[in-house]
Amino acid sequence: MTRKVRVALVALALAAVALLAAVLGIDLPTSSDQPDREAIVTQPLAPAAIADPAQPDTIEIPADDLEQANEALDDHQDARDERPAGVPPAELDAGAQQQRDAAREDQLPPTAPLAAPAQAGCSSAFVRNYSSRGGVAPRIIVPHYTVSANRPGWGDVNAVVGWFNQARSGASSNYVVDDEAHCRYIVRESDKAWTQAGFNPWAISIEIINTGKEGRLTSAAGYRRLGQIISDSAERWNIPLRQGAIVGCRVTRSGIIDHGRLGSCGGNHHDIAPYPLQPVIDAAIAHRRGTTSTADPRYRLLVAGERKHVDELLYRRRVANRNGGWSKVAPLHLARASASRKWIRQRLRVIGAGSQANRPKRRAYLRKVESRPALLQP
Ligand SMILES: [Zn+2]
Repeated sequence: MTRKVRVALVALALAAVALLAAVLGIDLPTSSDQPDREAIVTQPLAPAAIADPAQPDTIEIPADDLEQANEALDDHQDARDERPAGVPPAELDAGAQQQRDAAREDQLPPTAPLAAPAQAGCSSAFVRNYSSRGGVAPRIIVPHYTVSANRPGWGDVNAVVGWFNQARSGASSNYVVDDEAHCRYIVRESDKAWTQAGFNPWAISIEIINTGKEGRLTSAAGYRRLGQIISDSAERWNIPLRQGAIVGCRVTRSGIIDHGRLGSCGGNHHDIAPYPLQPVIDAAIAHRRGTTSTADPRYRLLVAGERKHVDELLYRRRVANRNGGWSKVAPLHLARASASRKWIRQRLRVIGAGSQANRPKRRAYLRKVESRPALLQP
């Protein structure tokens, strides 16, 4: 018997069984009726921009956790569109203008720098859904909830990660945290997650696993984890630990602000209502007060400290030029200038993480930093 004939016979036999079952009214079990509790779905994650042994290539999700979460996550679709329906064009334009102004001032590098390549308390698993912040540094930290249920273990978290890893969801988040304080860091803070429509470029987003009906946003351990992430992230981006504010599509006060308060420009969601925002802010303040920072100082961004060193470098250079060159200035003067230059170079190395491909971009960035008068303001 040839292989073709065997396959045809098997298919014929299966069709006969299905026909018989249909005639007799028997429900044959199918794989979709009864998800195998042991089944694991493996998804490839985003290819690493720069090799990082700590970053897994795939994520494994129990099939039943995935199924349960996907039903609930319907609400978290297409949060990528930054011109959501129902927002007056004038407001959208004002928001876009504010972004352009911020990008000029911030000079956030256009490449994905390894800003916060790790967050204490979280394990990294970077997903495919993200894009560039377009030069805008984050101004707001936005808590959300998933509308999916907490389940013991990592399955509930990984299922949400799996959803945000698929192009068809058109959504993602920087972090996902559950009731047991499990946390995944899934979009680098220097990249843009797709969680709150028109406010995506401004936001660091944190998805908390909660259906909205638990009576509380998260457990005590969950609040501690939120406090840790928010405190560290706020430190990296110079965001004050206070409630933020927006008008239309513009950020009028940097800080922490939940998805619901972002209104129609944020995609018109209501989370984290009915839960109050203040306990989330309080958790971040408690973390900041009660512990030493867990933010890795190597990965703070080139926004605040950089201004000081660029200012210093330009001042020393002006003096050198006035005096006829670097060889004519006092050793202390020279030492100060080279310390600042070294500091800036060091930061740029952190951003490029030594990648050869990023060298021209780093040089261009250094030139930009040095020529930007806006960066010289205190
Ligand atoms: Zn939300």
